[in-house]
Amino acid sequence: MSSKKTDNGTSGETEQFRFFCLGGGNEVGRSCHIIQFKGKTVMLDAGVHPGYSGLSSLPFYDEFDLSTVDILLISHFHLDHAASLPFVMQHTNFKGRVFMTHPTKAIYRWLLNDFVRVTMIGDDSSGTVNSGTLYTDDDLAASFDKIETIDYHSTVEIDGIRFTAYHAGHVLGAAMFFIEIGGIKVLFTGDYSREEDRHLNIAEVPLTRPDILITESTFGTATHENRIEKETKFTNLIHSTLLRGGRCLLPVFALGRAQELLLILDEYWKNNEDLEDINIYYASSLARKCMAVYQTYINMMNESIRKKFRDSNSNPFQFKYIKSIRNLDKFDDLNPCIVLAAPGMLQNGVSRELLERWAPDERNAVILTGYSIEGTMAKQLLMEPAQIPSFNNPDIMIPRRAGITEISFAAHVDYEQNSKFIELVNPKSIILVHGESNPMGRLKSALLSKYQKLKNTENEVKVYNPRNCDDLKLSFKGIKIAKAMGQIVESIDPIKEKQLISGVLVQKNFDLNLLKIEDLREYSGLSTCIVKERQTIRCCAGRDLIFWHLSQMFGFIDIKIDEPEEFTIEVMNCINITLETDLCTVQWTSSMVNDTIADSVIAILLSVDSSPASVKISSKQCSGHHAHEHDNKADHTENHVKAESESEDEPKIKDEETATNGIVKKEVEDSQLLQVLDFPLSLADSSIQTRIKRIKILLRAQFGDSLSLFDNEDDGENQNIATIKIGKHEAKVDIFNLTVECGSGVLKGRIENMLKRATDLVAPLSQKSRFV
Ligand SMILES: [Zn+2]
Ligand SMILES: [Zn+2]
Repeated sequence: MSSKKTDNGTSGETEQFRFFCLGGGNEVGRSCHIIQFKGKTVMLDAGVHPGYSGLSSLPFYDEFDLSTVDILLISHFHLDHAASLPFVMQHTNFKGRVFMTHPTKAIYRWLLNDFVRVTMIGDDSSGTVNSGTLYTDDDLAASFDKIETIDYHSTVEIDGIRFTAYHAGHVLGAAMFFIEIGGIKVLFTGDYSREEDRHLNIAEVPLTRPDILITESTFGTATHENRIEKETKFTNLIHSTLLRGGRCLLPVFALGRAQELLLILDEYWKNNEDLEDINIYYASSLARKCMAVYQTYINMMNESIRKKFRDSNSNPFQFKYIKSIRNLDKFDDLNPCIVLAAPGMLQNGVSRELLERWAPDERNAVILTGYSIEGTMAKQLLMEPAQIPSFNNPDIMIPRRAGITEISFAAHVDYEQNSKFIELVNPKSIILVHGESNPMGRLKSALLSKYQKLKNTENEVKVYNPRNCDDLKLSFKGIKIAKAMGQIVESIDPIKEKQLISGVLVQKNFDLNLLKIEDLREYSGLSTCIVKERQTIRCCAGRDLIFWHLSQMFGFIDIKIDEPEEFTIEVMNCINITLETDLCTVQWTSSMVNDTIADSVIAILLSVDSSPASVKISSKQCSGHHAHEHDNKADHTENHVKAESESEDEPKIKDEETATNGIVKKEVEDSQLLQVLDFPLSLADSSIQTRIKRIKILLRAQFGDSLSLFDNEDDGENQNIATIKIGKHEAKVDIFNLTVECGSGVLKGRIENMLKRATDLVAPLSQKSRFV
């Protein structure tokens, strides 16, 4: 199989969700599942199989590149869900982030400490990793600091992976995880319980419907006994065993269900005075350490135990009748008693030692209260064998006469609870894990027949029961849904089925939100700003003149304010020009197009004063004109190199003006000016012929009757030749090639300048360079 992130989900219409079981597929033990979608990888649990030891107890980590895992979520502290976590974190290339609830983390450390100690029993080595021990105390301590915690009902989001923890029942701190990756929603139950007990909340149903439910199937289609009947059976069996002088062994996992049994026993002892002298032992130093955790997290338990705590003002986990013993060294095994001892599967340790000691006596009883995992002594005992092998010397067989009874307090759902929960959660696909093949297979069949009527409809419910290392791929239609947020929601008609809405589409990780630009900051964290530009130019040309020059360039000019004190016009609906005495302020909202137009406007404004036509026109209106002529530099010219280069031309123009002033003034008539204004230049029309025509108009405006044009369209050669006669000087202008022949250098220079400015004005902005 491939260990790379192959599914980035971007190909084609459908996107693939991948489920890969590294452990806990058609088995109970070593839970570890991989889910992948859109290039994100989440790992669920990292357990060991209590039926095996050393490396063979691990999930199939070699079959997957753990370095690709983004996030690892641990559902609860049980060994089959958490015990290989230090191995993953310290002995593989895993580099993701690890999350669990606070109580799980609090218990995890003590629990795995004990696990390290227990797995080292029977090992020759002391402390180093070998076939028996997967990691050392140091590994455990190092991994512990890197584990992050999550509160119930809080949502964490990391790189597009969002997950929320919900109560799962089962044991203190157990969580279900609701995970969202790129629009796909997955609920992983972990081990869960829907039966109210003495201290835990039952598993919650998340409000949102998941696409995929990954659920445990431990009890398959079995039905749990009624809680009260079960407890009665349990306490009666203990009572009668003790009365006949027997001993009761309750092999338990040190934490979790043991606490529930202790609550039951403590209460029973309180109500049965005849038992007062009989001892209940809890042989677990680990449990003693972890009692503090239970006492701390009463707020995370159910209402009944919280009420007990409030009412009695004493901690329900400070038991009256339970005695704790560290080990069997000081255990005075003379009288009838009850011992709760770990491990629950009787593989080794205290529970195994007591089993071997008490098995031969028929008065004794072994009560199996948990789920017995395949391949363990607990599972073997259920077959009621006549003999059992000694742990220290497997060749020695010990007779078994003690009674074996299974009364399960395992907090897993039965069929009714599981199928009811599935109904409430209402997933599209169900993946079964954490169950032996047979019960899991039966559950699959039961669910399929339950949803039979939906088969081949769009609501069809699919059920999968993959084996370890089977690659399960589910296809999902790649529909992109954007969430409308903020003010834009008001523009949506709730009655109309289909409507077009426009806004800004913001994508953060896999979430698409449609927003009004005003809401951008609030809903996306992005901000917008509008850049306003302003340039102030000293320009003493009259408003008519400025207006005229700008209309040559831009055609229609919108007059906004025309008062004696202020003259404001707008060019191209975007550039605002205000004229106050001899200051001209140009303002616009910055954008690529606006900036370019503004550049042209400023260039024109800078040259208005010095244009020969201006001299002719403005001399009628502004007698002080010449005095200001050389002050027309922009106040801010950083971005306007053009403005500077034009001002260099000024001395030349001035000389010429002086020379020609008298003639020009007489020759310009208002009617000519109006004629030009009636001929708006459009930026869109940019053919060479049109431009030549416009240059001719501008020349006419500049030189009036001094200009003779060969307007005969048929006269190909001379079509674009104009002559300008001023006084004794005559100039020949080729409008097409933009060349000037003239005896007078001054006039020639002036016409050339004029042509340059004219081509600037008539050329479309983008093609300006062709003429310059
Ligand atoms: Zn569990
Ligand atoms: Zn489990």
